[in-house]
Amino acid sequence: MSRALVLEEKGKLSIREIDVPDRLGPADVRIEIDTVGICGSDVHYFTHGRIGPFVVEAPMVLGHEAAGTVVDVGADVKDLKPGDRVCMEPGIPDMTSRASKLGKYNVDPAVTFWATPPVHGCLTSRVVHPAAFTYRLPDNVSFAEGAMVEPFAIGLQAAAQARIRPGDIAYVIGAGPIGIMTALAALAGGCARVFIADLSETKLKIAERYDNVIGIRAGSENPAEVIAEATGAWGVDILFECSGAPAVFRDLFRPVRPGGCVVFVGMPVEPVQIDIVTAQAKELRMETVFRYANVFDRALDIMASGRVDLKPLITGSYSFEDAIAAFERAAAQNPEDVKLQITMG
Ligand code: ZN
Repeated sequence: MSRALVLEEKGKLSIREIDVPDRLGPADVRIEIDTVGICGSDVHYFTHGRIGPFVVEAPMVLGHEAAGTVVDVGADVKDLKPGDRVCMEPGIPDMTSRASKLGKYNVDPAVTFWATPPVHGCLTSRVVHPAAFTYRLPDNVSFAEGAMVEPFAIGLQAAAQARIRPGDIAYVIGAGPIGIMTALAALAGGCARVFIADLSETKLKIAERYDNVIGIRAGSENPAEVIAEATGAWGVDILFECSGAPAVFRDLFRPVRPGGCVVFVGMPVEPVQIDIVTAQAKELRMETVFRYANVFDRALDIMASGRVDLKPLITGSYSFEDAIAAFERAAAQNPEDVKLQITMG
């Protein structure tokens, strides 16, 4: 039994003891959880009880963005030892699957992912996890930053899919947590500057605290015109769609230069219409992102180098006893909040 934050059913959270799998296999480690970030998906399960085909049908422990300390290792584990500070990749694929053999283990149909029904998440005191998906934190990366690796990994996956060339100019639509992480990953990946559009002045102000991030006020400015003016009517090299907002898709390809790239990161709830001919006329390359593969170690190296500082994005921290209050605040979607975290203490 383990103390955990349990989503009993849609709209109902409790902190209680629950039976979670804790058998330590030879290739596993046991981790005492220190910090867990609240993700939009956790909040969505709380408020809606489902995401697409994934429906909460039994009590489920929430949380998938975690850092902690190794307390026990399986017999075959060589690279980790008790006392190591770590963060964890929440998706566990079948390592023998065809997708895994291709290096694309994130799209393995058999992947299990923390806090995706029916799999329990990590908002609990201890978890057992494969050592292969557990990463040691550099000394200068805190637990709080370690719990930011998971959302930053999505940005890095988007940057990798874009195949950035040094000096590219990027445009990110949506200044939510993933939009900001994607902008920072694009800069780390070699972009010279990144435009970012949103309706929320508050979110843009947070994004603009970073050098070479230029906000576009989508409520009062025409983003396509701003981009045209800034690029001499040529367009941006890369567009990252991070909003999932249906309204942006119709004219999505206009601000992209001929031969440029569009990366779909945001997930519209319903199917959307896109203008294929505009994309064809420019021979745009299109890429998609589903979670991430092979980027956690890179994320940690970038953070340790000091080139990306995610600490300003942590806008609230709660003790585990106040975890329900943290979720209620997250569900209120205050534009000043980028990432709320819970410390298990
Ligand atoms: Zn997440």
